[in-house]
Amino acid sequence: MSVAVPALEVEHLSFAYGPRKALDDVGFRIGQGECAILLGPNGAGKSTLFSLVTRLYDAPSGQISIAGHALRKDSCAALARLGVVFQQPTLDLDLSVAQNLRYHASLHGLSRKEAELRIREELERQGMEERRDEKVRQLNGGHRRRVEIARALLHRPALLLLDEPSVGLDVPSRKAMVDHIHELCRSRGLAVLWATHLIDEIGQDDSLIVLHKGRVRAQGTVREVLAGQGAETVSAAFHRLTAEGEG
Ligand code: ADP
Ligand code: MG
Repeated sequence: MSVAVPALEVEHLSFAYGPRKALDDVGFRIGQGECAILLGPNGAGKSTLFSLVTRLYDAPSGQISIAGHALRKDSCAALARLGVVFQQPTLDLDLSVAQNLRYHASLHGLSRKEAELRIREELERQGMEERRDEKVRQLNGGHRRRVEIARALLHRPALLLLDEPSVGLDVPSRKAMVDHIHELCRSRGLAVLWATHLIDEIGQDDSLIVLHKGRVRAQGTVREVLAGQGAETVSAAFHRLTAEGEG
């Protein structure tokens, strides 16, 4: 893949639930290896955007490309380059860690041997290899999330979507997850789109896409967004960008 091909490109995307507009002409790009924070309060449209990128819904207007593949025209190739951790956990609690991962690997067409290698590699990366034969039910919330991230990376996607992955975790687990995701971007050239409403999850090198009431209110590096708002802190900038009531 050429360096110029973005991991994700979204153009003029709009979507409504009946009369209720959820996304209004949304556009942005995420480069390879970029960690992009999709920052928006509850109801901003973050999960709706994820539903469109994962093709749970199709938007009536706009374009989405994943690693250069148009999602509509070239759906299989586009979705093969995507890893997802949804807002609600989706592991089977009564299967072991490894069984949950194996099933996903076979869905992606990995051979048994290749699957075992990758499962070991991803679990080691998450510090979870020793827990591989435990039932997911026995794991705490932070460890379950790690298994979900390992699963989302098994087929080596170009882009990882994370929908509020740290909600419900205790402070140390939350910090560990935030550090871990940043490390994945740095070390693997993985692009991440990470939805959150928590400002303290943003790293200095992350890019920001601020979504409010279905519209992109600001985007760029942390520094650019601060400068655009004449703000000293992300918290102040976010407050300004989301204070205005107009949809
Ligand atoms: P976020 O993930 O940022 O909290 P959502 O994408 O879940 O935001 O929601 C965006 C808007 O769309 C909200 O106003 C929400 O109430 C509405 N919405 C989300 N899902 C549905 C649905 N299935 N039916 C109707 N309205 C919905
Ligand atoms: Mg959501």
